[in-house]
Amino acid sequence: MDKLEAKLESKFKQTLNKIKISKKSKIIVALSGGKDSSVVAYLLKRFGYDIEGFHIDLKIGKYSEECLKKVEELCEMLNIRLHLYDVKKEMGSGMCYLRSAIQEKHKGEIKNCAICGVIKKWILNKAVRGLKADYIATGHNLDDEAQTFLINILKGSPELSANSGAITKNLSDKKFIPRIKPLFYIAEKDIKSYSKKKKLPVNYEKCPCALDSYRIQVRKFLEKTSTKQKENIINNLERVSSKIKKINISVLKYCERCGEPSRGNICRKCRLMDIC
Ligand code: AMP
Ligand code: ZN
Repeated sequence: MDKLEAKLESKFKQTLNKIKISKKSKIIVALSGGKDSSVVAYLLKRFGYDIEGFHIDLKIGKYSEECLKKVEELCEMLNIRLHLYDVKKEMGSGMCYLRSAIQEKHKGEIKNCAICGVIKKWILNKAVRGLKADYIATGHNLDDEAQTFLINILKGSPELSANSGAITKNLSDKKFIPRIKPLFYIAEKDIKSYSKKKKLPVNYEKCPCALDSYRIQVRKFLEKTSTKQKENIINNLERVSSKIKKINISVLKYCERCGEPSRGNICRKCRLMDIC
């Protein structure tokens, strides 16, 4: 095993120890078909965790077909169960159509990735709760988290990052499934090399709908920074988040329309999907 592999695996283990994930827990890995979530599933399985996969087929043409194929290959390789959610069947149309209808209604003020992100989170929480799992694991990595924190600072809303971390905080509710991010401290470039070294089935293409210009701008800026600098951003987040949280603790309610956990009377997904 080379140095990069050993370092990545040790950071992964340290993160799971830090957030105290027991091997008795049932973890559903949100598999997109991309490198990050594939590495999460591969390592959780290798370290003896009880995992199953969950894939949302977004029906974004050839891109989604390729993602589904890779997810199926990965689950077969790891010998884990795969749960599938077909957006077209369950919500009436593919993500492209849902997104344009939502943007039309909200006059383009909401970016593609934000819309898709809200809907994916809603689906994951509801569907995974039905599977009686203890945690949802996602592939968010150091670069994603540094981007999100910077975006929130640039928007003047650092409090939006107050609950972020390798495990969701402050959201204890029987209907809310805690989310874990085992790659929280690991740089994207290292995850990419690792996935290639381990020859994991991965779709390396970017989502054709990923046209969130703000995030692209911040990503381009961060590409010029070192891993150490990205780690510094996350260290800063962890240092200040306890102070931000005190101002912003909000109790979860249940959405009046769908019954899912929500910060307001109507959840973000229902507010967005109110497109008729
Ligand atoms: P993204 O928001 O696309 O950067 O994805 C962040 C994480 O969400 C991924 O690492 C996956 O764990 C999860 N995810 C994204 N897309 C899907 C999908 N279609 N099905 C299941 N999980 C997904
Ligand atoms: Zn709702």
